[in-house]
Amino acid sequence: NKLRRPVIAGNWKMYKTRDEALQFIYAVNQEVPSRDLVESVVCANDVFLRDLVKRQGENIKIGAQNMHYAENGAFTGETSPLMLETTGVEYVIIGHSERRAMFNETDETVNLKAHAAIKHELTPIICVGESLEIREAGTTDQVVKNQVVKAYLNIDRNQALKTIIAYEPIWAIGTGKTATPEQAEETIKNIRGVMKDLYGADIANQVRILYGGSVNTKNVDSLLAQENIDGALVGGASLDAASYLTLVNAAK
Ligand code: PEP
Repeated sequence: NKLRRPVIAGNWKMYKTRDEALQFIYAVNQEVPSRDLVESVVCANDVFLRDLVKRQGENIKIGAQNMHYAENGAFTGETSPLMLETTGVEYVIIGHSERRAMFNETDETVNLKAHAAIKHELTPIICVGESLEIREAGTTDQVVKNQVVKAYLNIDRNQALKTIIAYEPIWAIGTGKTATPEQAEETIKNIRGVMKDLYGADIANQVRILYGGSVNTKNVDSLLAQENIDGALVGGASLDAASYLTLVNAAK
């Protein structure tokens, strides 16, 4: 009975062999289809995306964790949106804090990648979020607003509708330290306000905004109960099929 269809997106990071990934998809496919109730996605490594896409069912869709913004070029080791498109994936995570921190992702490249994803009919899952220092300094709303505004530069209303935002406080990722439902709701409500300023209430009310940061089977219900939280981007708790399915069921 949510206004927006919930999304549970797994981020496997650099985990799982091809066999383990396939086993996970088989396990999820055994369940009753739920796609009309919840959009479930796992974002896996590029090397076996095509194998997973071939086996994706009604229960689960596949995404990538990153891509370059250029269609081709002298970018050794990178994957282009064109290449991702040929795998059949429907989603791509953009601007994950691990990529911002370790792989030179900036607000500018996030914007370029968002444009490239939309052009290639990939749904970008655009990640924003503050560090612990920023949260403690009390400037979270300003910092996250700035990330959102820069990510959506020159993206029009129709394009914005095709995006998903993930609010992931850096201090909560992989730390076991979850934002409280109230903290997550407050910041996500602020993000929706930024989208309203950029695109108007109609668009802002349709864009899905997820929370990410140590979401697990125990805390998922209280997070999803919040009015503005439309789902979760999940790292650790998305690796095990049973745990992942519990999260998907919680979002129904
Ligand atoms: C993530 O990788 O986006 C994430 C939220 O990780 P975790 O759930 O493990 O904190």
